[in-house]
Amino acid sequence: MKSFLGYKCSLCGTEYLQGQVTYTCPQDGGNLDVVLDFESIKKKFQPEDITSRTENSLWRYLPLLPVGEPAGHSTPLHVAGWTPVFALPRLAEKLNLKHLWLKDESRNPTASFKDRASAIVVTRAQEIKSEIVVTASTGNAGAALAGMAAAVNQKAIIFAPKSAPQAKVAQLLVFGAKVILIDGSYDDAFDLTAKAANEFGWYCRNTGYNPFTLEGKKTAAFEIWEWWIEAHRDWHQQDKTLDAHPPLTIFVSVGDGNIISGIHKGFKDLLALGWIQNMPRIIGVQAEGSSAITNAFHAHTETITPVSATTIADSISVDLPRDGVRAIRATKETNGTYITVTDEEILGAIAELGRVGVFAEPAGATAYAGLVKSTSMGVVRSDDPILVLNTGSGLKDVRAAMQAVQSAPIIEPTLEAVKKIL
Ligand SMILES: *Cc1c(COP(=O)(O)O)cnc(C)c1O
Ligand SMILES: [Zn+2]
Repeated sequence: MKSFLGYKCSLCGTEYLQGQVTYTCPQDGGNLDVVLDFESIKKKFQPEDITSRTENSLWRYLPLLPVGEPAGHSTPLHVAGWTPVFALPRLAEKLNLKHLWLKDESRNPTASFKDRASAIVVTRAQEIKSEIVVTASTGNAGAALAGMAAAVNQKAIIFAPKSAPQAKVAQLLVFGAKVILIDGSYDDAFDLTAKAANEFGWYCRNTGYNPFTLEGKKTAAFEIWEWWIEAHRDWHQQDKTLDAHPPLTIFVSVGDGNIISGIHKGFKDLLALGWIQNMPRIIGVQAEGSSAITNAFHAHTETITPVSATTIADSISVDLPRDGVRAIRATKETNGTYITVTDEEILGAIAELGRVGVFAEPAGATAYAGLVKSTSMGVVRSDDPILVLNTGSGLKDVRAAMQAVQSAPIIEPTLEAVKKIL
């Protein structure tokens, strides 16, 4: 908290003090990066001061976050983060890879990666004494905000497209948020939310637009760094720097581009602290029907042209990505790339992951679908160590899950009937 200096615009580079701005750059609308005082953090903390902590949640990274100890620290819902990473040897063999792991973000309190952002935004809201927090959401950001808000007795309002999967809407309602369904797209909800927040004085959590969402999401990078040190002691002995040849390659599904930018920011923070020397490689995966960032990346421009998004992966269905510029840099600056996958490939990935015990929603399985495609395109090599993120639980969208599998037979309750279908 004491190391939180202010903000820097990701487009024009203008720096602002804490009280000068709340959301985006007043000059060009660019998203703001939180600026931390790394020199003072470096003086006070060694990597071991973090890695030896007993706090098993994203709050173990408090010294690297722009908020203080949250008031509701002891509420269980604040225990976002610290999600497991496990090896997937059978899928690795199938894809002819030597090292493949999955970090399962569906284990977060409301079952998606978005809990990381909401933990930090709600804490910030309480610090600045906002009565009401509002967000636009395709479902998961809203569920994460609603759940966290309920846990600390904060009021939340969620604007979601009326097409949001039922389970996500159910989460919003059960957590007691005020839910407003929009007869329009996520993009319509996004613009309306920002306008309404401005009109009524609410604190707006909108992804990317609120600088604190990125700060929450960057904690996944810190966890990957710690996991890497732990898991590869024997590979690297005393080398605690995440440096490996070849480097770790991370696959992330991308809609607005805030998760991938957050992961990039986390590694940039570690680089600024001197706690790593090299970046892992970050690869973004988008649905073919929602590929605005991929299009710009391959056209070598930071100007994002909106698309008319259609994909089964509702969490990454975005016309105009709200964190596109930083998302492009996340791959450009790490020697990564962007690829797209079809809805069919996403459904295939749900089934493949399911067979090794991981139940992912479509946007969650998209990163794995991207890996499958990458191996055939030569984007990754067989000895590259690879980490795939599953960003959301399959229980979030059961209708999509059922499209990934064959339905079960219904039989009469007799042994003969069982014999017939075996
Ligand atoms: C939000 C979300 C994403 C994509 O994150 P962006 O920041 O929009 O790129 C991916 N998967 C799931 C499950 C999500 O909820
Ligand atoms: Zn600017």
